[in-house]
Amino acid sequence: MSAMTEIVDREAIRARARAVRLATCKHWRGALAQPPCAAGVDLVERAGPRRMVGWGLRIPCCDAPEPAFVCERKDTPTLEQVEARERDMHESFGRALAVMAAIPADKAVSRGEVPCPQCGGPVHWERSPVNGHVRAACVAGCVSFIQ
Ligand SMILES: [Zn+2]
Repeated sequence: MSAMTEIVDREAIRARARAVRLATCKHWRGALAQPPCAAGVDLVERAGPRRMVGWGLRIPCCDAPEPAFVCERKDTPTLEQVEARERDMHESFGRALAVMAAIPADKAVSRGEVPCPQCGGPVHWERSPVNGHVRAACVAGCVSFIQ
């Protein structure tokens, strides 16, 4: 029961996340966006209604060891593509961190502009007076987040 004593092995978590990405079909649009998948496969028709217990293990789109059917359209990314995606996520996280660091900590300041760490153009940001969430976006689209 004690989560405090649980040892978190970051490398194992990263390796697991990569294994899931490598096994996940490019046509998979997310658990709430099916059917059909981006390749037009009706997963509900072929694997059964989503409310079924263990539905995620019945579909062939992700990493289920024994799915209910073999999908003829399944197309998984290469290791190179997964690594490129991981780099993109890492870089976009880095850009968001840089923007957050540039935004004044003073909660009385509720909006403004900071330079984009990617293109140097303006990143417009706004802090919600209600919950303090910051919304920021580069006008050129390099970085965009809600924190
Ligand atoms: Zn930019």
